[in-house]
Amino acid sequence: MTAPIRVRYAPSPTGYPHVGNIRTAIFNWLFARHQGGSFILRLEDTDLARTVEGAAEAILESLLWLGLDWDEGPEVGGAFGPYIQSQRLPLYHETAGRLLRQGAAYLCYCSPERLDQMRAEQARRKQPPGYDRRCRELSPDERKALESSGVKPVVRFKIPLEGQTTFTDIIRGEVTFQNSTLDDFVLLKSDGYPTYHLANIVDDHEMQVSDVLRAEEWLSSTPRHLLLYAAMGYEPPRFAHLPMILGPDRSKLSKRHGATALLEFREQGYLPEAMLNFLTLLGWSLDDHTELMSREEIVSNFSLERVSQTAAIFNHQKLEWMNGVYIRHLSPDEFTRRMLPFLEKGLPPEVTRPVPFEYARRLAPLIQERTKTLAETVALTDFFFVEQLQYEASLLLDKGLSREMAIQALKTARERIETLDQFDSASLEGLLRPLATGVGMNASGFFGLLRVAVTGRKAAPPLFQTMEALGRQRCLDRMEMALAGLQR
Ligand code: GLU
Repeated sequence: MTAPIRVRYAPSPTGYPHVGNIRTAIFNWLFARHQGGSFILRLEDTDLARTVEGAAEAILESLLWLGLDWDEGPEVGGAFGPYIQSQRLPLYHETAGRLLRQGAAYLCYCSPERLDQMRAEQARRKQPPGYDRRCRELSPDERKALESSGVKPVVRFKIPLEGQTTFTDIIRGEVTFQNSTLDDFVLLKSDGYPTYHLANIVDDHEMQVSDVLRAEEWLSSTPRHLLLYAAMGYEPPRFAHLPMILGPDRSKLSKRHGATALLEFREQGYLPEAMLNFLTLLGWSLDDHTELMSREEIVSNFSLERVSQTAAIFNHQKLEWMNGVYIRHLSPDEFTRRMLPFLEKGLPPEVTRPVPFEYARRLAPLIQERTKTLAETVALTDFFFVEQLQYEASLLLDKGLSREMAIQALKTARERIETLDQFDSASLEGLLRPLATGVGMNASGFFGLLRVAVTGRKAAPPLFQTMEALGRQRCLDRMEMALAGLQR
């Protein structure tokens, strides 16, 4: 019988989770869901100095936003909890104790100052950095003396001085590290907290993790972990190291390339389903061309065989395009629901809240096609909401249009609109299109003038539909305002 598939996402709450990190969560989740396995969330919060307030909450929120539900972990519990490492310290102490008793680990009393000096010396001599093993073979007398000096020791792992550690990575194939390149790393720090390495292997073992899918940057930790598993007599999990994510200039993805924290994308108005689709394609593909896939399609097709070894490129333009496609596919009602929070937040303070759903729903067909991010809907629609448009009267006078002609044209249009039976876009078009020649202008000039008068800008959604959505009175008031501006 093969052991059940159990994977984990094990973030450290040291900052707001960035897209690279979340891609790891997505692949683990997909791997579990595709095979009917379990997806575990575990918080690796044992580095007190690097823990950032609010980061743990942001991690949970990021997963929830994308719809990545976890079967075991904080909030939901599970048979192998607690799932927060700072609540599992006795387990790590026990393991460190066992390794000490077995002679696979040792106490190290070197002070931070001594270690700094050692590193500086190594750098000066262009030697690889690493602990020089001074405390590895202390005599009982030396140990006694150090103990009585009151120095708090750390526990270090005894790396075999010779040989090599080899494993088969599911994505990369066989990987070998010479043990001589590994140093005697710390297991337990002097503050009583475990290092990442110790806590990680203890928990992966205790939680019966079958497969470790993590970022490539952890590849060099794997031989250390395997040696620890061996020292403990534990069966190690399988490993798969996911390709790096780079910016378009092929440097490591960073702030320089734009937003990187997942929740920033939410604020910018990206849809979670577009984000999931996009991030899944960073390192995985269905075939060589399919881009748009629903969550269900991705789950049913996901496999590690199609995860590439080469780095993936994060292309913001492609994400924006994809988001636009997802936005266009929303029903107008759904689009309105998603846009509303952005309008609530982004419209000028004088606009009355709450923004009415019905009114926003009328605007949806005017802008949905051209919306690439929900945050853009504020700038695309604000003139529908404000009482007073702010613009320079000169904006009304396009290409050689005289003030007198503009005034005349606006007056005529206003009078005719007042008497229009039905105030809808078809009637408006029927009225205004023939009127252009009547006021001595061409259609595009005339419509441009009206557009500025009713929206305060030159580029806006289609004129007649915009006027219909604004309503007759608002259009007339705005034309009045435009006239006043021209006559001033
Ligand atoms: N806590 C590590 C991180 O922040 C987990 C690495 C791993 O998955 O082993 O990514």
